[in-house]
Amino acid sequence: MTSSPEAEDCPFCTIAHTYPSQSPSDSKTQFNPEAVSPSAHLVLSTPLVLAFLDILPLSPGHLLVTTRAHKEKVSDVSLEESRALGEWLPVLSRVLAKATGVWDWNIVQNNGIISSPIYICLIWSCYRSRSLQTSSNGFAVYQE
Ligand SMILES: [Zn+2]
Repeated sequence: MTSSPEAEDCPFCTIAHTYPSQSPSDSKTQFNPEAVSPSAHLVLSTPLVLAFLDILPLSPGHLLVTTRAHKEKVSDVSLEESRALGEWLPVLSRVLAKATGVWDWNIVQNNGIISSPIYICLIWSCYRSRSLQTSSNGFAVYQE
């Protein structure tokens, strides 16, 4: 498989290339977090979708979900990939809720480099909700 120049610089594509897909039903599946640098704690590695813990979490259990293939925008995702993402997001949300005891999540989708200069690849970010307050200038801000 040929990689685009963007994919060669993408840490998520490095994770995708390092960890082959594994059956989610295989309870013996274990991923070595130190196989890449910085380390990656994989939760899911299917032929189309990957999920792993964020190395800079906004809250405990902050999970990143992406396509295995390098895609920068939702408009780049194939029908097959979008179906797989749609199938896995609720499953992953339930797994994280059970693991953290928190059932209220923000699921944020970064679409393109302008939306988040940190994430090159298309990514869904799942993290715990924080309380929303209104600042003195009228902007909504999250409080810890
Ligand atoms: Zn990528």
